[in-house]
Amino acid sequence: MTIKTCYFCNIDFVNSFNDRDDYHDFLDFIKRAKKEDLLKLKGIGDVKADKIIAERNNLNNSQLIQFLISNNSSINLEDKYSHFTLDHVIDKGSHPLIALSLYNFVPSCYSCNSKFKGSKQFIDNDLMGYLSPTSENFSFNNDVKFKLYFHNKKDISTIKNKDDYILDFHYFKNKNEYEKYIDIFKLKGRYIFHKDEVMNLIDKKERYSQSQVDEISNIVNISSQQIKKDIFGKELFECNIEDVSMTKFKKDIAKDIKLINESS
Ligand SMILES: [Zn+2]
Repeated sequence: MTIKTCYFCNIDFVNSFNDRDDYHDFLDFIKRAKKEDLLKLKGIGDVKADKIIAERNNLNNSQLIQFLISNNSSINLEDKYSHFTLDHVIDKGSHPLIALSLYNFVPSCYSCNSKFKGSKQFIDNDLMGYLSPTSENFSFNNDVKFKLYFHNKKDISTIKNKDDYILDFHYFKNKNEYEKYIDIFKLKGRYIFHKDEVMNLIDKKERYSQSQVDEISNIVNISSQQIKKDIFGKELFECNIEDVSMTKFKKDIAKDIKLINESS
C-alpha cells in the first residue's frame, strides 16, 4: 500500500486502507479473525462466519475452510470495507459524460473535499481538464510556483526570520483559473502556516555549501547527491509531487532560493 498525499493540497495524506485487523496471510485470517472481520470477506455471511469459527480448530477436516483457502490467495474484502476519499471534480449532474471519465476522480483529503470544495465548481467546460489533478494535462505545477517576496531592500541573503518575507504564488499561465483554485482550497493560508519550512531550507543552505557537502561525501564515502538528499530531503530531488507531503512547495522554494537548479 502506497501512502500518497491529497492531489489538491499536497499537504495531507490520502491513503486507502482496509477496515480490518492485521493478519500474516489468508490462513492466519481464517484461524484468528473475529466474526466482525470474517463478515467483511466477499461471499461470507452470518452462517458461514459462524461455521468458520466452529471449524477453525479442525480446519483440515472442514470443507468450507479448505474451499476458501484454495480460492483465496489474499484477503478480499467487500468494497465497502476499503476506504478512500475521492472527489468528483466536475459536478455529475451538469456534466454526466465527463463525470464518468477518470480524470474526474481526484484522491483528496477531508479538508479539501468536504470542508473547502464541497459543491463549488472550478471547471466550467470540457476544455478545462487541465485544472483536474488527475488529468494528464494538469498544469498547476508548471503554471503556478510558490515564491518569496521581499521589501525594504531585503533579499534572500538578509532573511533572518519568517517575517522578513512573504509567501505568495507567481502565475505563469492561467492566472484567473488558478487564483480561483487556490482560493477554493485555501492554499495560501494553509501554506503560510508552513513558512517555517522555508526558514529550514534557507538555514540548511547557509550551513552546507556545495564544497562542504563534497567534503562530507569524501569523509563518509557516500555520494554528494545522496548527502544532499539526506540533508535537504529526498523529495527535492526524486519524488513525484503527490507521493510526499508539501513536495511542490519545498521544490519551488528550493529553486527560488537557488538551492537546486530550475531543471530539478
Ligand atoms: Zn487536500
